[in-house]
Amino acid sequence: MKLLEEKILSEGVVEGDDILKVDSFINHQVDPALMEGFGREIANHFKDGHITKVATIESSGIAPALMTARFLNVPMLIMKKQPSRILNKNLYQTEVSSYTTEKGYELCVSRDYLSEDDHVLIVDDFLANGEAAAGAMRLIRLSHATVAGLGVLIEKSFQPGREKLESLGLDVYALARIKSLEGGKVTFLEEG
Ligand code: 5GP
Repeated sequence: MKLLEEKILSEGVVEGDDILKVDSFINHQVDPALMEGFGREIANHFKDGHITKVATIESSGIAPALMTARFLNVPMLIMKKQPSRILNKNLYQTEVSSYTTEKGYELCVSRDYLSEDDHVLIVDDFLANGEAAAGAMRLIRLSHATVAGLGVLIEKSFQPGREKLESLGLDVYALARIKSLEGGKVTFLEEG
């Protein structure tokens, strides 16, 4: 998506060779009009997927997931992060390792909001190693619901997330695909 690529080039900040900070419009301050456009685009890609719910991982996925859910006209489900496993029979729980903090967490969701009849679209801000999305996928599958796909704003294509998730059978859609952040310079994959 051209608009997102332009925004990344003008406001994104590269840290090291593999982290992109987009705090001015996604991760700290959020641009609602821009986010609405991102949600419309993701919803449009999955419009024939019979989606019944959009699920995301707190907290940076909430804005794009909410906008996507609005355009698909379905509820949005927030999967919560806990520092450690808790004893609660009403939760589905799974352990996830985190790319940005390098610490693991327990991802959990109430059994009340997922059922075997659901077709769930996962939406997140970034796709890096695919750990967060794979965790979300495990929770959805624990409920016997169907995972309908993954929509992300930014994919770091030099990391193995897409490959790993596609090998698990997931339809992955990214609005911007970054080939490299080397030398502090953002390069996108050529589409088409
Ligand atoms: P993964 O589980 O795919 O390795 O990492 C995905 C999660 O890590 C995303 O939900 C996002 O919050 C965070 N993340 C990974 N890479 C980056 C990055 O370069 N910039 C930012 N802002 N977040 C990232």
